[in-house]
Amino acid sequence: MIDSTLDAGFNNVVLMMRHIGASMLRPAGLEAERRGTAIPIDDPMFLEFNRTGLSLSTSGIRNSTPKNGPSRINRTAILAAEELAYWDQGACMSLPGPGLGGPPIRILGSDYQKERFLETPFSNPLKPAWGAYATTEAAAGSDVARIRTSARKDGDHYILNGNKMFITNGGRASWVVVFATIDPEAGRAGQRAFIVEKDTPGFTVGRIEKKMGLTASETATLFFEDCRVPAENMLGSKGGSGFKAAMATFDLTRPMVAAMAVGIGRCAWNRAAEVAREAFGSNPSNPTEHKMLDRLAAARRRLDAARLLCWRAAWKMDHKENNTIEASMSKVYAPPAALFATTTAMDICGLAGVRHDMLVEKCFRDIKVFDIFEGTGEVQRIILARRKFNYPRDGISASA
Ligand SMILES: Cc1cc2nc3c(=O)[nH]c(=O)nc-3n(C[C@H](O)[C@H](O)[C@H](O)COP(=O)(O)OP(=O)(O)OC[C@H]3O[C@@H](n4cnc5c(N)ncnc54)[C@H](O)[C@@H]3O)c2cc1C
Repeated sequence: MIDSTLDAGFNNVVLMMRHIGASMLRPAGLEAERRGTAIPIDDPMFLEFNRTGLSLSTSGIRNSTPKNGPSRINRTAILAAEELAYWDQGACMSLPGPGLGGPPIRILGSDYQKERFLETPFSNPLKPAWGAYATTEAAAGSDVARIRTSARKDGDHYILNGNKMFITNGGRASWVVVFATIDPEAGRAGQRAFIVEKDTPGFTVGRIEKKMGLTASETATLFFEDCRVPAENMLGSKGGSGFKAAMATFDLTRPMVAAMAVGIGRCAWNRAAEVAREAFGSNPSNPTEHKMLDRLAAARRRLDAARLLCWRAAWKMDHKENNTIEASMSKVYAPPAALFATTTAMDICGLAGVRHDMLVEKCFRDIKVFDIFEGTGEVQRIILARRKFNYPRDGISASA
């Protein structure tokens, strides 16, 4: 998506991502679909990606930020996210890098923690490495305050006990930012975030999920059994930082996740537009064809509106303005807009729409989860109701 309202720097990012998407992500994503499992860690695609020198969460995007004036990091990340998702979101989520574990370390980590966990592990292009982020538990999804994984202080260590589920790249990560509670009765105030390294005794990887979509991406269950984590691996030197870290991360990541949804919707839309052009020509001849084109146009309007909401949320963050409302707006709006685009595409393609090689059915399977992770649509509506219209917090327990 090259846009005349963007400057050359931003459009160059899009072109670079288009190259990576077309040459690496789409082929790797389709291969993962054929195999039915996530891209293996020794796939040559990861080395090839590392050789581009572009780690999405570190140097590549940071280099696009000028010395003076507002940051461009978040707008760049939004553009990259949409373009890469257009080619294959599952493959994109599997790319080496700190992933969702990056933002809490960047926001709350000490210089030592940033150097040790964000810089060093990802500096060798010949050794792809991953980070991960683990809040979700069986009884704590939307409601992060209900986390039951416990952390007990023992000298200069914390002992972690509990399980995490649906953790992206959790099985291959060198470290995982794990949210645990030092006092389950204290709710949010009791939460802390710990960086748990792969080989820490008591940390094991369980089941890898089989999902309806995003097949190329690994989603793992993690177990912590008397897992001794050095106290220096806790994020934020003062207490009460865990919940804050989780929430601050969302302001960064929700617009990105929304932009990914736009990318998937755009992929389905483009396919449908090609099919419509072939089938109807430039002159639709009957009411059904008119109705289909009308739906296609409506889908395009919604995707464009979703994209602008993402850009606004990222712009505010780049200008150091609070963007919690705008981040939630983009997240509540984009997934349904993209789902509408993919269902419209399925209908326009007709029988051909369910064929694997049409890509449209893959977009249809990939998009559903976008209304679930990074805060469900319902939860975004709660956040907006509270923040925008000052609804009371009592009786609504989802994270906000
Ligand atoms: C592919 C994939 C990757 C993921 N990656 C990660 C990861 O890397 N790290 C991680 O920690 N998690 C990850 N998750 C988990 C994801 O963040 C959770 O699935 C999400 O937070 C929703 O939690 P839940 O599934 O427990 O649903 P629940 O919270 O149980 O929600 C179920 C339903 O109830 C609704 N609901 C919940 N609370 C309220 C309320 N107060 N009012 C009204 N309605 C409500 C929700 O909207 C939803 O429709 C991933 C999930 C998937 C599918």
